[in-house]
Amino acid sequence: MFGGNRALDGAALRAERGAVTGLIGPNGAGKSTLFDVICGLRTPTRGRVVIDGHDVTKLGPARRARHGLARTFQRLELFGRLGVRDNLLVAADLGPDRRHAEATVDGLLERLGLAAVADTPADDLPTGTARLVEVGRALAVRPTLLLLDEPAAGQDHAETERFGALLRAVAADGTAVLLVEHDMGLVMDVCDQLYVLDLGQVIAAGPPATVRADARVLAAYLGA
Ligand code: ADP
Ligand code: MG
Repeated sequence: MFGGNRALDGAALRAERGAVTGLIGPNGAGKSTLFDVICGLRTPTRGRVVIDGHDVTKLGPARRARHGLARTFQRLELFGRLGVRDNLLVAADLGPDRRHAEATVDGLLERLGLAAVADTPADDLPTGTARLVEVGRALAVRPTLLLLDEPAAGQDHAETERFGALLRAVAADGTAVLLVEHDMGLVMDVCDQLYVLDLGQVIAAGPPATVRADARVLAAYLGA
């Protein structure tokens, strides 16, 4: 609740391992607030958050992270003066596989196509590239549930295509990916399931092609 306004109202969703689950909706629908609730930065008035069968509703963000939860922020939260590799190392050092942090980071730099900018300070990167670093930081902790808040904003078409392939690969590794994204091309390409949030409520859910044709979804987006 924000000053008596309900940002989320009975919204319920599931993200399965091995799948990319999309969450779309107009600005102000409550998508980022829902992420805050899932990762423990905000406490909901009611409702539950369950990760792999564990009820984590009463746990703080750090303990939820130990249950395999990682997220990126819509507003980037990188260490601006640190190089790309060091940004990833800081995160890998928090993960379950600390002893192999350097190997994990080298693998991620390759996988994300960031090897050439490994020593570039995050502040000097174009936005699209900085978003990849933010995703890399989340992946460095080897999450089982990965929340991505508009990760493709600022990426050009080629970057977005490559990013989509990366998301499919991350899901194929057994991670549950929950993706908030405005780029509908990307959403339609990569998502197995899609939820639509409007005014804090889930107004449609299902396979992307079905959801896209839903009359309430068209109304929410077009104001029809
Ligand atoms: P989305 O990510 O879908 O664009 P948000 O989760 O950011 O939406 O916002 C959902 C609603 O909550 C909006 O009406 C927004 O104005 C409101 N809101 C978000 N954060 C705050 C806050 N800190 N204080 C007051 N209202 C907020
Ligand atoms: Mg948002």
